[in-house]
Amino acid sequence: MSTAQMNTSAEYWTELTGSLRLPQQMWIDGQWRAARNDGTSPLITPRDGSVLVDVAAAHDADVDDAVAGAARAFETGVWSKLSPRERGDVLIRWADLLEAHRSEIAALISLEMGKPVTHAWQIETRTSIGLIRWYGELADKLMDESPRSRTDSVALVTREPLGVIAAITPWNFPVSLACFKIPAALVAGNSVVLKPASQSPLSMLRIAELGSRAGLPPGVFQVVTGSGPVTGKALAAHPQVSTLTFTGSTAVGQQLLHYAGDSNVKPVWLELGGKSPNIIFPDAPDLDEAIGTAAWAISFNSGQMCTAGSRLLVHRSIHDQVLDGIVKHLAALRIGDPLDPATEFGPLASARHRDDVLAEIRRGIDSGTTLALGSGEPLDRPGCFVAPAVFDDVEPDSRLAQHEIFGPVLSVLTFDDETEAVAIANNSDYGLGSAVWTADISRAHRISRSLDAGLVWVNCYEEGDPSVPFGGRKLSGHGADKSAHGLDKFTALKTTWIKLT
Ligand code: NAP
Repeated sequence: MSTAQMNTSAEYWTELTGSLRLPQQMWIDGQWRAARNDGTSPLITPRDGSVLVDVAAAHDADVDDAVAGAARAFETGVWSKLSPRERGDVLIRWADLLEAHRSEIAALISLEMGKPVTHAWQIETRTSIGLIRWYGELADKLMDESPRSRTDSVALVTREPLGVIAAITPWNFPVSLACFKIPAALVAGNSVVLKPASQSPLSMLRIAELGSRAGLPPGVFQVVTGSGPVTGKALAAHPQVSTLTFTGSTAVGQQLLHYAGDSNVKPVWLELGGKSPNIIFPDAPDLDEAIGTAAWAISFNSGQMCTAGSRLLVHRSIHDQVLDGIVKHLAALRIGDPLDPATEFGPLASARHRDDVLAEIRRGIDSGTTLALGSGEPLDRPGCFVAPAVFDDVEPDSRLAQHEIFGPVLSVLTFDDETEAVAIANNSDYGLGSAVWTADISRAHRISRSLDAGLVWVNCYEEGDPSVPFGGRKLSGHGADKSAHGLDKFTALKTTWIKLT
């Protein structure tokens, strides 16, 4: 674990941002490359709506080049046939380089999608460095199997890399969500082609360049930039891609399954949307902590979190106290320029997303639901800002309780007993995160077993580390990122049966 400290001087971040080199081209075969037709697309920062840079917009031919390069690298064995320890050492060097360039990466994240730089530094980059290092260390600690089957034979069950893995990722955690997948795919011996979100390509482009410096051979990690419907589709439908791993919306995840079915039936692994329940009982060990954490769970990253605690389920006996506390916490957040280290709450990622979130708030107001905090109007300042909103007495079947808004909009629902709490919590098409606050260990276990979700936090929220899997159920997707289980989707099982003579 790194003990590095963030520089908290505003002048430092202003100066660093002014001196940043913003990547404009794609990272293919170990070098920068423009799109074949020189196509570009403007990248607009949600910080103030200005154009940061024009970034390459890849078309089918560029995706073909990237996939062909990745396949070539795989077949030559420059990476796939290294020993696991050699691959692990490259990942560890990569993690070291990221650590050395941590402020630069944090500033790029903050510029491209508006995350407060303090969170980009303290959480996003820390998580990513930790994941790359963890898989690097795991490299030579994995075992194959030799089942004790028959005495006249030896059976070997080995795991082999698949070839070219395509990864398509969203903008809300542009680096860490890519690092949920990429180091696992690489350490298994695959080549990877990443398409980051159009809103946030800069940080992963820079990280790819650092990967080459760490020793990733050309072609082993490619980054193609461009729009989902063009670049993303070409990658997802590519017949030379062995496996597709995706994090993003449920709607796009559903489209990807079609592309895979219509091309080479590649497996598609999906980390999708959520509407996570956060359940507070009166016997929460520390009610103030539960209240503060509930406010954090809907405001961190401006609510743009797949696991956002967007449905707050409160026991009727503590409803007023909890609502009052959360409203106070949210109203006190320091809203500001994401590049100011003092900022706690930044803009939404784009003007379009801001308008979508505001439309959902207005829809909630029009439905007659009580608005305890916020408004359907943008904040009166440049940039894509929407202040936190809290709806109270939300009906479990209403749009406010069912639809993923992906912004700082909390729906508060009330329950009378454990059975009702679980029923409301599971009344969702999604099944990603969930939390329960109680001092009763039996209740915690009962509820954890009953929740139809991939993640359950007890007396905390959004905790975890590289050693535990992350993934959802139902319309939140399937399969696990992170942990040793995260390797499964990037390898194929092979049985070798040897008859003894
Ligand atoms: P999105 O619209 O689904 O985009 C995700 C990625 O897919 C982007 O790179 C996007 O490219 C690409 N894409 C869009 N259309 C495509 C197509 N037709 N073919 C191939 N690729 C395509 O999601 P988002 O708005 O960036 O992110 C928000 C969503 O992600 C929310 O629903 C959130 O819950 C979910 N999410 C889930 C997790 C999880 O782990 N379960 C984590 C974070 C976020 P463009 O950027 O060019 O559109």
